[in-house]
Amino acid sequence: MTIYQPRHMLVTGGAGFIGANFIQHVLAQNAPIHLVNLDKLTYAGSLSHLEHLPHAERYHFIQGDITDAALVQHLLRHHRIDTIVHFAAESHVDRSIASPLTFVETNVVGTAVLLEAARHVWFEENALPAAQCRFHHVSTDEVFGSLGLDSPACTDTTAYQPRSPYSASKAGSDHLALAYYHTYGLPVTLSNCSNNYGPYQHDEKFIPTIIRCCLQAKRIPIYGQGNNCRDWLYVDDHCQAITAILRSGNIGQRYTIGANNEWDNNALAHYLCEQMYRLFPAASPYTTLLDHVTDRPGHDFRYAVSTEKIQTELGWSPCTSFEAGLRKTIEFYRMRYTQ
Ligand code: NAD
Repeated sequence: MTIYQPRHMLVTGGAGFIGANFIQHVLAQNAPIHLVNLDKLTYAGSLSHLEHLPHAERYHFIQGDITDAALVQHLLRHHRIDTIVHFAAESHVDRSIASPLTFVETNVVGTAVLLEAARHVWFEENALPAAQCRFHHVSTDEVFGSLGLDSPACTDTTAYQPRSPYSASKAGSDHLALAYYHTYGLPVTLSNCSNNYGPYQHDEKFIPTIIRCCLQAKRIPIYGQGNNCRDWLYVDDHCQAITAILRSGNIGQRYTIGANNEWDNNALAHYLCEQMYRLFPAASPYTTLLDHVTDRPGHDFRYAVSTEKIQTELGWSPCTSFEAGLRKTIEFYRMRYTQ
């Protein structure tokens, strides 16, 4: 198996949740990777996620938009980028229902601009062999659409059936990424991951909301009956999976990444409230704060992905237990919400 070694990496969206964890993960390794983080700093990004980086001398931040073709091409040339790891996206389903065009612009057009810049600078200007560069596109299991309770987990060959503007825009970007592999031979890899949790996730997401509401004794909103099922992966495990794909993944391939850790929203909210109550006892159990609110339109019932391919081909499997991951996550948000 050939091992690919990135040298000059462009990370997009590195001030967001997963991108910030990934940058810390990459810089903590011994490999001498120079890393440029291109982030627009939307409401979802914050430079506070990137304080105290290991090997900060190898890190460079650029505030900018991935839809800015001139800027992206300049960065690829100026920093001699050989590897792009593309996280930048509008990522919140509820916001995609309110403002779908922003999602099309960043997720679809932004991805197209990055792919085109890579093709132009790597192939046309520098005649770089495909073995000496990589474009990893980070995507979601939501592109597969809604599953029934007994449906088998999705694999890299499952057909896409996105149902929200968010998942449709991610599906569009996935198709573009693989089209650049098939049409131009751009060395693209792609991953579809299940729900992540961990430090630096935005306050609006499910697990941070539950923790914050417990700490602040506020109602915890649960959509509809709370029966919707999600698979939860600790963010560090996702970062390790991406590193494994970059190093040894086969170009033109898609890898599904998950934790085999499915919970329905009710069960997860109860479990988390109980963990919080054990750590921070209060006058009444936090489960009394749970509040069923009007469901999200078109709310997908269940997502699940198989990890067989990434396990067999690349030897990756998640190594953080849900208990351990939640403990770290709760501690992170306790610090954030009680300071
Ligand atoms: P996030 O919303 O926390 O962060 C997104 C980052 O992208 C922010 O820092 C934001 O400022 C930046 N950004 C947005 N628009 C930009 C633009 N036009 N130009 C440059 N930067 C821009 O998202 P996340 O949860 O970290 O997700 C990262 C990626 O992983 C996304 O592509 C998402 O689809 C995918 N993903 C997320 C999850 C999850 O559970 N969070 C699961 C699977 C896949």
